[in-house]
Amino acid sequence: MSNEKASSCVMVSPSAKLGAGSKSLQLKSFSLAIRHLKSVICNPMLKTITLNDQTVNYDLKTSRRARRMRLSVYSNCLLVVTKPQGFADKLVESFLRSKAGWILTKLEYFKNHVVAQVKIDPKEYRQNKKAALHLARQLLTEYNQFYNFKINSIRIKNQKTRWGSCSRLGNLNFSYRLVFLPEDLARYIIVHELCHLRELNHAPGFWQLVAKTFPDYPEKRKRLRLISSGLLQ
Ligand SMILES: [Zn+2]
Repeated sequence: MSNEKASSCVMVSPSAKLGAGSKSLQLKSFSLAIRHLKSVICNPMLKTITLNDQTVNYDLKTSRRARRMRLSVYSNCLLVVTKPQGFADKLVESFLRSKAGWILTKLEYFKNHVVAQVKIDPKEYRQNKKAALHLARQLLTEYNQFYNFKINSIRIKNQKTRWGSCSRLGNLNFSYRLVFLPEDLARYIIVHELCHLRELNHAPGFWQLVAKTFPDYPEKRKRLRLISSGLLQ
């Protein structure tokens, strides 16, 4: 990104550090993000911009202390732009366009990996962890007969912000909430993370791998997004 230095990008989840732009990321604590989300949820005045043919909503804030433009993408797919006082809105739009690639990559990541923000319940985690691990192992074994990728470890986490994640070292993590999903969506998440062992991105090659098992994956992504945003149960 050409003017990377001009921005400071803040993300909620360290796992969302993907490729380009991640060097400049500053991580904020989760509670700070939640507090921020509460404040923006009360603000219906979101602005809209079209980036690479995609409509993106953003919350524009003005800060007296800010010296330069700042972008934050939160795990509920909300983009927040902070501008120094006196900056014209026109400059904000050209700044967003110059960062279109970074913004769309982050939003795409959260659309695919984020679980609805729900109250942390350690008891629920303890009660379901074992069943979730069993389910994940069983499904990974089933689908890896076809894909045959090298899995290093499988873990169940008490993170409510993501359904699953995959690391470069081949470690697969899943939310214990996998057991609450309709079975076909749990299967989709398993295949999604499994395919990241080969393609650690969301480029067309990755989706081609997913489509070998789920040619109808767009429909599953859509339903998962609705569940994540609390619109479906
Ligand atoms: Zn993914």
